[in-house]
Amino acid sequence: MANRFTAADPAADDTGLRLSNGGTDVLFDVLTLAGCDLAETAWEQHLVLHFADGHRIGRGTSGFDLSELPWTSEWQAEKAFFLRMIDTALGRHGWDRLRYDPPLVAASLATYRAMVAQFTPIPSARPEDWRTAPRPELLARCPAHGLFQGELGCRQCDPGIQPIG
Ligand SMILES: [Zn+2]
Repeated sequence: MANRFTAADPAADDTGLRLSNGGTDVLFDVLTLAGCDLAETAWEQHLVLHFADGHRIGRGTSGFDLSELPWTSEWQAEKAFFLRMIDTALGRHGWDRLRYDPPLVAASLATYRAMVAQFTPIPSARPEDWRTAPRPELLARCPAHGLFQGELGCRQCDPGIQPIG
């Protein structure tokens, strides 16, 4: 099983970022570690929660196209936040809280950063509008790891995706 991440061209087989389930777990871990300490607006918090809760249910089908995110008229600031989150992850933000050493994720982050950088969002009005603030309990921090609890609890406390031993 692989998860495929694309940028507005999901029909083209040779584009995008393809990751194993393990590679996806790591990518989402490091983006969540970075994002929880950066998010300020409702949209930013929703984006971080997307990764915090991501690839927990429906493993192997958690890839998405960047055009599927509910970009708003503020998309330039939203895209800038996304890039800042990736850059912060590339700076190994919070990696001391990981239970493993992620040597391969830097290449995934660099590929993903290039995809986001070249992508031009088109604002959309979707039911899952991210302009409304997430419920406060979703933003509660894990006492051990500092991550948003989200719908499914801190992802670093989840034995299903973390090599707890
Ligand atoms: Zn935790």
